[in-house]
Amino acid sequence: MITPVPLLSKDQINRLPERAQEVVEYRKSGLSLNHIQGCSLGCAYCIRHTYGLWDANQPVALMSDAQAVEELVSHRYFQPHVTPVQLFNRATEPFLPKVRPHTFAVLEDLDERELTNHVLVITRHQLKPYDIDRLNQLRHLKVTLLFTYSGIDNEKIEPYPSHVAADSLKLMSAPSVRKYRTVLYWRPLVPGLNDTDEHLAAAHELSKHADATVFTGLFYRAQIAEYYKANGIPEPYDNTARRKIVPETLERRVLDAFSHSSALFRKTSCAVSYAHGLPDYNGHYGIRELCDICPLSQLELCAGAHWTPTVEDVHQVASVLPEASNLKVVDITERAVVVSGLETEQPRYFLQHALRFQVHDERHPHHANRHGRADIGWKETSA
Ligand code: SF4
Repeated sequence: MITPVPLLSKDQINRLPERAQEVVEYRKSGLSLNHIQGCSLGCAYCIRHTYGLWDANQPVALMSDAQAVEELVSHRYFQPHVTPVQLFNRATEPFLPKVRPHTFAVLEDLDERELTNHVLVITRHQLKPYDIDRLNQLRHLKVTLLFTYSGIDNEKIEPYPSHVAADSLKLMSAPSVRKYRTVLYWRPLVPGLNDTDEHLAAAHELSKHADATVFTGLFYRAQIAEYYKANGIPEPYDNTARRKIVPETLERRVLDAFSHSSALFRKTSCAVSYAHGLPDYNGHYGIRELCDICPLSQLELCAGAHWTPTVEDVHQVASVLPEASNLKVVDITERAVVVSGLETEQPRYFLQHALRFQVHDERHPHHANRHGRADIGWKETSA
C-alpha cells in the first residue's frame, strides 16, 4: 500500500499528547478516524490547538490505512450501517495532496465491506474532477462532503483562502447524477468579522450549489483564545465556551438572509441526513424549536422516525459499554434522555446514535431555543 505520508515509530507515537494517540474518537457528529495527523493550512481556530497538535504542520501517519479501518470497524462504538463516521476531521485536511490517497483508501476499504454508514468528510481544500469520478465509484457508503467556508479574509485567521472551498463546492456539486452529497458548512460565523450583509448574501448565493447548508459559530476554547492573544488577532468574545457560539441577533439575520432557501439547518446531522433523504441520525426532532426552518418533507420524515425510548431501552443499549456501568437515567421526555454517571462524552454519543434520540448529560443542561449552543450572546431563557 502506498504511504505518501511518513509512518511514525512506536516511540514517536508514545511521545504524542495522550488524546492525539487515540485514533478512533467519538465526536458529536460521528465516530471519528484520525490516523493521519498534521496540517499545513494553519487556520487560527483549528481544533488541533485543543489536542496539543498545533505545531504538527505536516501530516504523519500513526498506522496504515488498513490497520486504521480495522480499528474503526472493530471498535466497541462502531455499529455497521448505523454509526456515522467522520474521516480526518480532527487533525488534518482530508484533501491535502499527501492525505488524499489515504482518504480514498479508507473510503474504498469501508465500501468494499458493503457498509452503508454515513461518512462525513469535511474539507476546505481544492478538489479536482478526478475526485468526482473516484467518489462516484463508491457503491454502499453514504458519503457527504462538507465544504468549510467562512468568507473570512483576515490571513492571520485563515491563511488558506475561503474562495477555494467555494470553488470546490461548486465543482463537486455540479454533476447532476452523483453518489455523494455536498453540504455548505458555513462556519465559523463570527460577529464583526464575517457577518456583514454582503457576507450573508455571498453565503446565500453559494448555498444554491449545495444539497444543504449548515451554519454554525466558533469553538472558542481556552487554547484557541491564547493563540489569538499571542498573535495579535482581535478576540471575538470575552469568554470561552464549551459549545459553539452563535449569538441570537446573528442567527436572526442569517435566517432572514436565507428566508427563501429551503435547505438551511442548524445541525450538521440534520443537513447530512436531509441531503441523503433520511431522518436526522441524531434524533433532534424532539427538540421542536430546532425544526422551525426545516423543509416540510424532511419534517415529515423525521416525525415518522421519531420515538421515545424507555429507561430499559437506554440501559439495554448501554449494557455493551463497560464505561457506562454507572449510567443513571435521570429523566426522559419527548425531547431527550437526561443521564448521569458517564465520565466522558463519548459513550453518550454512542447512546444517541444507537437510540437515534437525543441524550443529554445532567451536568450540561440544554437551554430552550439555544439549540445546544454556548450561552454567550443569548438573553436569559428558561431551560
Ligand atoms: S425535522 Fe428537525 S430533526 Fe429533522 S432534519 Fe429537520 S431540523 Fe433536523
